[in-house]
Amino acid sequence: MTRIIPHWIAGREVPGGANRFSPVYNPALGEVIGKVALADADELNQAVQAAEAAFPAWAATPPLRRARVMFKFKELLERHADEIVATIASEHGKVRADAHGELVRGLEVVEFACGAPHLLKGEFCENVGTAVDSYSLRQPLGVVAGITPFNFPAMVPMWMFPLALVAGNCFILKPSERDPSTALLLARLLQEAGLPDGVFNVVQGDKVAVDAILAHPAIQAVSFVGSTPIAQYIYSIGTAKGKRVQALGGAKNHMVVMPDADLDQAVDALMGAAYGSAGERCMAISVAVAVGDEVADALVAKLAPKVLQLKIGSWDSSADVEMGPLVTREHREKVRGYVDIGVAEGAELVVDGRDHVVAGCEGGFFLGGCLFDKVGTAMRIYQEEIFGPVLCVVRVASYDEAVRITNEHAYGNGTAIFTRDGDAARDFVARIQVGMVGVNVPIPVPMAFMSFGGWKQSLYGDHHAYGAEGLRFYTRLKTVTARWPQSIRAGAEFVMPTMK
Ligand code: NAD
Repeated sequence: MTRIIPHWIAGREVPGGANRFSPVYNPALGEVIGKVALADADELNQAVQAAEAAFPAWAATPPLRRARVMFKFKELLERHADEIVATIASEHGKVRADAHGELVRGLEVVEFACGAPHLLKGEFCENVGTAVDSYSLRQPLGVVAGITPFNFPAMVPMWMFPLALVAGNCFILKPSERDPSTALLLARLLQEAGLPDGVFNVVQGDKVAVDAILAHPAIQAVSFVGSTPIAQYIYSIGTAKGKRVQALGGAKNHMVVMPDADLDQAVDALMGAAYGSAGERCMAISVAVAVGDEVADALVAKLAPKVLQLKIGSWDSSADVEMGPLVTREHREKVRGYVDIGVAEGAELVVDGRDHVVAGCEGGFFLGGCLFDKVGTAMRIYQEEIFGPVLCVVRVASYDEAVRITNEHAYGNGTAIFTRDGDAARDFVARIQVGMVGVNVPIPVPMAFMSFGGWKQSLYGDHHAYGAEGLRFYTRLKTVTARWPQSIRAGAEFVMPTMK
């Protein structure tokens, strides 16, 4: 019998009442391992009602006690790490060590959220006027929602809910329907950590559930991470409905390799950043910008054999696997289609992974690593996000051209420069129109106590995710001006109050 993957509402599993389901695969074998319930507006409303009912008590719970739930949750995440890693990998396909890395990066946000009593402190000014004091509070918004992509089923939800919860909000998570089970595991662990029922809910689903979230008047804020067209949609509809929205979109991250870079270091960095997680990372490097033909020739000569030798296989194989399959057959065909397009556009396909087969996993959604050289900036394979194990090498004549093409690209999520020249690196940091920048660091994902976000078409909204920005997103500012009766000496004042 096919396993049904349910919702989690008010502290318990709720099977799909809407009678709509979507298959969930083990991408390494290409086999269906379950079907996930797809919510309708009624089921979403049940979750909102549970969250609204839980909100007053949770918002009134002292931040110290809310933080203690997070301390316990952190401990449980560590204790159940193997189970979480296996759940991620079995539905997503990424290799075990990579799934563990994702868990750790999410867990670090939980650690940051443990500082809630300190993070929520406001400002206080004594005597803003004679015997008048003023102070500020950051208060929760109420019921907030997170809509997340398939590529980080543990980490991206944990960019959101730990901070939303410690700030006193109740949370509804709508995970990707392609790998929905990790969210349920996190919900159970939050309950075990002592989170009251209804404070955290999981509503499984597709566009129907997302549209119900956007339409629901009780949902105050929406955090979204996914592709740019959907990010644009969520931002425009959500803000039109008066909600606070942060919508993180797609990427085409450039890594500039300067003539003075340590080439071996740059090649290793490119291998991990382009092919790790089969390129299904929003911070993957998908464009290597080689400054000068000499650098480009050497780079491609060093990359090609390594791309050919990538160890590709199932997450649970005993072999030392570096890269797993793509998430679905449709996505594999889309990525393969882009490789066909690149060839038709005249780019030079140095390594062709289109027909790669993994022995024992013939039905899996695998694709070998692909490497393009001499990619032009007018080509679709350069302009569009491919989201697979395909690296495009673009040759430029100068550093200035490298900066110009990076800045002219529609996306601005992450970028990196590999160089030994401090001046060039400093200039790059100053001039580049991208939200996250690495200097000899290929995937500059900010730590939990910084904040994550791109520019241009990689983020719609004012706040980046997690860190101080995340906390601001999930709270609103209240400023109090107070004086006590003995300091009120005169009668009514009819002019604009000014402090005396
Ligand atoms: P996606 O946009 O297809 O889906 C993301 C979420 O939106 C899912 O929960 C999905 O159910 C929902 N959704 C899908 N289609 C919808 C529609 N028509 N209307 C309403 N909701 C819809 O993204 P994905 O394929 O799951 O994830 C990959 C994408 O996410 C890539 O573009 C990647 O760059 C991006 N991403 C960005 C970041 C970032 O931080 N900027 C991080 C991770 C992933």
